Amino acid sequence: MKHLLFLSAILLAAAAPAQSPLKVVTTTQDLASIAASVGGNLASVSSLIVGARDPHHIEAKPSYMSRVAGADLFIAVGLELEVGYEQSILSGSRNGRVQIGQLGHLYASDDVPLVGKPTGPVTRAEGDIHPYGNPHYWLDPYNARIIADHIAARMGALRPAGAKTFDANAEAFKRSVDVAMFGAQLVSKFGGDKLWQWEVGGQLASQLAANGAANLVGGWEKKMAPLNGKAIITYHRSWSYFVNRFGIKIVGELEPKPGLDPTPGHVASLLKIASANGVKVILQEPFYHDTEAKFVASRTGAKVVVAPGSVGQDPAARDYVSLINTIVDRLASVYGG
Ligand SMILES: [Zn+2]
Repeated sequence: MKHLLFLSAILLAAAAPAQSPLKVVTTTQDLASIAASVGGNLASVSSLIVGARDPHHIEAKPSYMSRVAGADLFIAVGLELEVGYEQSILSGSRNGRVQIGQLGHLYASDDVPLVGKPTGPVTRAEGDIHPYGNPHYWLDPYNARIIADHIAARMGALRPAGAKTFDANAEAFKRSVDVAMFGAQLVSKFGGDKLWQWEVGGQLASQLAANGAANLVGGWEKKMAPLNGKAIITYHRSWSYFVNRFGIKIVGELEPKPGLDPTPGHVASLLKIASANGVKVILQEPFYHDTEAKFVASRTGAKVVVAPGSVGQDPAARDYVSLINTIVDRLASVYGG
């Protein structure tokens, strides 16, 4: 009997690493959604931030540290979005595997093409400036594909037996993004990689026309077409990647500098900018107060559009694709979409 117990203990110990799902903790729900798609049933994923919270500012609570203590992989946005709390949570977790530079720590920003890197010297007078570039890159669906590949590679490095599954899951996630972006007909005709190559190179319209496929465009690409070239105002500088993807121009921000509250003088200057550029939309996340946006809207005829900047900031934004769906639908509705 003793012998049998000993034997089954050995078998259990040997089986445990393959059977226990990879424990993943992310800072934001966007990363959790992508990681859950990639990890499938080989990973259990949770996000520290839940709901309509400002991801720049959360408290490094002890409960976060104990969750990270048991993690195999910690994924953060990076670019100093989490500068106010990440290091405290990692140190407090006392988990050596997920410290910065370890295999169990991943900045999803690696490999993502960035915008907004400051060129001059950076001081606090410039506001909540991010010296490594604008960290709100997940709002471009193209970048979500890059993030998925990156997460799949890291999960595969941590669990080599699951590497093929992670890659296949990442491909499936990317296809769901592609279909949502371009519509099912274009994706089955050309494949997502080719379509993105055209899109990123600014040749999508000309290539589709040359291939007699212009009428097959669907998805976000079609819904956002009426907004091409339109001017909008945003609250925070969080929409740069999103508007770049869809050809929208941001002509002003309610924050005088990123992270600084609107001032009366700055808001007054926005009234002129809004009128001069025919601004119809003031776009902001649900956790910012909307007094200033409503004021500018009331004086200019623009509409305040409150949209989730992350998964979980709105009941409709349940996962990555429905997040972008929600933003697209709210914006397009202003332009009759
Ligand atoms: Zn920001």
